[in-house]
Amino acid sequence: MAKSQDIRAKFLEFFEKKQHEIVPSAPMVIKNDPTLMFTNAGMNQFKEYFLGNTAPKNTRVTDTQKCLRVSGKHNDLEEVGMDTYHHTMFEMLGNWSFGDYFKKEAIEWAWELLTEVYKIDKDILYVTVFEGADDDGLEMDNDAYNFWKKIVPEERIIMGNKKDNFWEMGDQGPCGPSSEIHVDIRPPEEKTKIPGRNLVNQDHPQVVEIWNLVFIEFNRKANGTLEKLPARHVDTGMGFERLCMVLQGVTSNYDTDVFTPLIREIETITNSKYGNADTDGEKTDIAIRVVADHVRAVAFAIADGQLPSNTGAGYVIRRILRRAIRYGFTFLNQKEPFIFKLVDTLSKQMHEFFPEIKSQKNLVVNVIKEEEHSFLRTLEQGLLLLENVIAGTNGKVVSGAKAFELYDTYGFPIDLTALILRERGFQLDEKGFEAELQKQKERSRAATKVETGDWHIITDDLEEEFVGYDTLETNVKLTRYRIVESKKEGEMYQLVFNLTPFYPEGGGQVGDKGYLETPNGDVIYILDTKKENNVIIHLAKGLPKNINDTFKAVVDQKQRKRTASNHTATHLLHQALRTILGTHVEQKGSMVHSSYLRFDFSHFSKVSDEELKQVEDFVNARIREQLPLEEKRGIPYRQALDEGAIALFGEKYGDAVRAIKFGESMELCGGTHVQNTADIWHFIITSESAVAAGVRRIEAITSDAAKDYFASQTEAFNEVKSILKNPKDPVKAVVSIQEENTALKKQIEGLLKDKARNLKGELKNKLEQVNNINFLATKVDLDAASIKDLAFELGNEYKNLFALFAAENEGKAMLTCYISKELANEKGYNAGQVVRELGKLIHGGGGGQPFFATAGGKNPGGISQALEKAKDYIL
Ligand code: ATP
Ligand code: MG
Repeated sequence: MAKSQDIRAKFLEFFEKKQHEIVPSAPMVIKNDPTLMFTNAGMNQFKEYFLGNTAPKNTRVTDTQKCLRVSGKHNDLEEVGMDTYHHTMFEMLGNWSFGDYFKKEAIEWAWELLTEVYKIDKDILYVTVFEGADDDGLEMDNDAYNFWKKIVPEERIIMGNKKDNFWEMGDQGPCGPSSEIHVDIRPPEEKTKIPGRNLVNQDHPQVVEIWNLVFIEFNRKANGTLEKLPARHVDTGMGFERLCMVLQGVTSNYDTDVFTPLIREIETITNSKYGNADTDGEKTDIAIRVVADHVRAVAFAIADGQLPSNTGAGYVIRRILRRAIRYGFTFLNQKEPFIFKLVDTLSKQMHEFFPEIKSQKNLVVNVIKEEEHSFLRTLEQGLLLLENVIAGTNGKVVSGAKAFELYDTYGFPIDLTALILRERGFQLDEKGFEAELQKQKERSRAATKVETGDWHIITDDLEEEFVGYDTLETNVKLTRYRIVESKKEGEMYQLVFNLTPFYPEGGGQVGDKGYLETPNGDVIYILDTKKENNVIIHLAKGLPKNINDTFKAVVDQKQRKRTASNHTATHLLHQALRTILGTHVEQKGSMVHSSYLRFDFSHFSKVSDEELKQVEDFVNARIREQLPLEEKRGIPYRQALDEGAIALFGEKYGDAVRAIKFGESMELCGGTHVQNTADIWHFIITSESAVAAGVRRIEAITSDAAKDYFASQTEAFNEVKSILKNPKDPVKAVVSIQEENTALKKQIEGLLKDKARNLKGELKNKLEQVNNINFLATKVDLDAASIKDLAFELGNEYKNLFALFAAENEGKAMLTCYISKELANEKGYNAGQVVRELGKLIHGGGGGQPFFATAGGKNPGGISQALEKAKDYIL
């Protein structure tokens, strides 16, 4: 049986022999592309070539791409586990032509590889061809049909509609007709019953698409129309796991060696058995597939730098993991974390081609384990909450709103709610739930909706130059612009220039701000700068009147300098952490702002105060050494690494890279930096905290922010000194004030005790004998604690005491009632009741025990009346 490793290698070799360059997979998690969260197809990383924004170095490339289809236009999440051939994360094998070969070669080579190299029986293959679409004014793809006809019998060529045979990445962007190749791997007896061609694209689990050949020649515009691209391209994608299924002679992706090691491990850990769907194990099988699939997606996402979180891409990853936890919980009876245990198997299996999991195994394991822990706790809590909901339900139907609250506020999965309710003989109002969900979706869509118009091209300019490393000001021409409409910001313009000094947000560093000046002196502010498909986009509130003018583009120098200072400090911080804590420290996130910097890194425990001090000292020592910037632009990637530069996981690097060196610190980096570490002035750590299991966060400030910090500290200190009347030694002065304070407190305590003692003497004289009871009702000038002490002392000295004390303090009244225990028992008196009743007179309330109780109120005017009434209780 062909091993999956060899199947992958053969694909790449085949296209390499046809002059394709083998390139690495791009990271699965996409950074810096506002239009896409995760790579969902092999072509994503080449978008800029299709759009004509950049010229490719090589017009033929091939690779295997890690893809994730869990959001946006391509979302297979709910299928995964239910069927046997959709995954969340999968590898897409692909070959590309950027304006080079077209349909003929793409078709012939695909056929050659499948039937001659992999030796798949021609009789199980079907191909599809685009039938055309009236609404887009597109005719049937005759070219593709004719090329296929030469190698495939016509009864195996099937016409397909826009849904299946016109590939689009999203609502906008490069697209085109496609030809798919399908396999029919059903047993012969079934094939005689229904011909395979009737089952193509009919969601049959054994008649599935394995390869899609896309002929990119259009761009879908914002208004929905198609426009011809300047060149024609080939973009193919073959599902690696599906190919393995065919070549390994099995009928499910999960029975290939890509998945069996994971499945065996799940069986062992959970003490369950995979493959009993025919008897009663269908749910078990689904759960095992879900877990085996999802652990791959989550582990690779974490290794790519995306930690589970509460927003954006991190939230999608969290949801995938939670889906797996929940299937394990319900159908595999896993009440403790277990998914993290699979990472080892996964890393062993994948490390030859994808080393990232192995090299970050500790982090991946810790993060998954911690997520499992906390979600299992949520599930437990949710179960309790659900019990309350059930208890509070009249009738047998639980409202959708209640279920939605559980789902939305507590993260409790709705299918679990439904399942438990069913088991308990209740019903869920599913329509009500759906309505709530829909309402919420609309709320968030309305809040974030952005409409992007089409580009207005002024001049064609392929290579946009970034000149901002060397200058902050230059003359520019507008080459294109478009309008974006967002609910939040209103109408904005996105401007592109022939060249620009503005740094686009990237590598954690914020985008530059600044302004454009027109020849007649008008100013248009640039509010932010971003990069999209390798084009630098400047965000502005308006458009220059004459778009053909030459403009002066000026970067906000102050902000840029502060940002550069924080960026260089980030590199020094990285170096300091690796030196002081150890080389296990890997960058896990970075935010370089003009006013502060934030750095996330892998480390297993809290960084101690002493270590933080060392880190701070280390960075400040590098600042004091006045290390000059040594910048190497456009050096080969390999060379940079050989020279000791640090590269980051989950980052996409080209062949030519930029290396930034300050002394011993050397990193691959596209950001802007100071010319000399002395420009940073000073580095101060402002906080250290945890982000996730095994990931810490340090926040720090430099340059102007550090100056401000010192200035405000000095100011506060001077104020303290002046309050202290400018003593020579302020510390000594404060300490002596504190000592004096302590001594005074002691003295006051003593005085209060004396006062109480004197008062006690007075009160003894006031005691009345009424019906054999020692009665006392009096106003005292003491605090609550002292009154309590006094009451108990008197109680110890006198039998049958009934006392009511009243006190007035800062406009509030207080009543305290003490009744000797014997007296209370014997006569049924109750101090609690006394203060509750008399408390009304002081507009308050209180309570306590039968022998001692207090009440507080807002009306001191009622005190005398309360004291008068006290005697009524014993008469
Ligand atoms: P399907 O109709 O089976 O969902 P698709 O039309 O979505 O496939 P494409 O977008 O053309 O697929 O992707 C190219 C290839 O990638 C497919 O031919 C298939 O082999 C593979 N593929 C697509 N989606 C998945 C998935 N979720 N899991 C595994 N492989 C997939
Ligand atoms: Mg699909």
